[in-house]
Amino acid sequence: MVDPDPLSDFHSAETGEPFQDCISCGLSLDHDPSLPYLVAKSYHRNECIFEYAICDDCRSNMAQEFSPGSKQALAGFFEERVKVRERSHLLDSGNGPAPWIEKCAACDSPRNQMESYSLGGVLLGMHMIYDPYPLCLCGKCEEEIQELLSLKTRGMWDDFVEVHFDGPPADVEDLPVKGRPVLF
Ligand SMILES: [Zn+2]
Ligand SMILES: [Zn+2]
Repeated sequence: MVDPDPLSDFHSAETGEPFQDCISCGLSLDHDPSLPYLVAKSYHRNECIFEYAICDDCRSNMAQEFSPGSKQALAGFFEERVKVRERSHLLDSGNGPAPWIEKCAACDSPRNQMESYSLGGVLLGMHMIYDPYPLCLCGKCEEEIQELLSLKTRGMWDDFVEVHFDGPPADVEDLPVKGRPVLF
């Protein structure tokens, strides 16, 4: 059986279509066909509560502003907890993004048992770029990542959310991770 659209997990939950614009600079994501973009979506009880796409230029501008300690902590987390090399063998399966996102990349919890989680994927046009993305992180591991970040970096993310979103809906205000993007 062939899934008619294996990338549908990385389409906008709001529109059901592929993302059109970079959330940060507002440019159309296909204005430069050689520029990849990141899609990040956060789910709570299987409902998408937060989603965006960001072009590679804006993404690297933002990453440059992370404090050195936060960059190091993020790199360390991925090194230690996400078995990047082991994940690479998934490429051989050639089954599209599904096997990459069925478990938390850091703790191996199955996605269908998570209360909340985030998905991240890097796309180029209509194609997915593999390794180490796409990936899934459960809410607990996201929380762990948040705690590694400096106050300055957390503040930067909070500003990003404040500028680009109306804020999470009231009923998710109490979530441990208040919609801070952790996949970057
Ligand atoms: Zn942009
Ligand atoms: Zn996890």
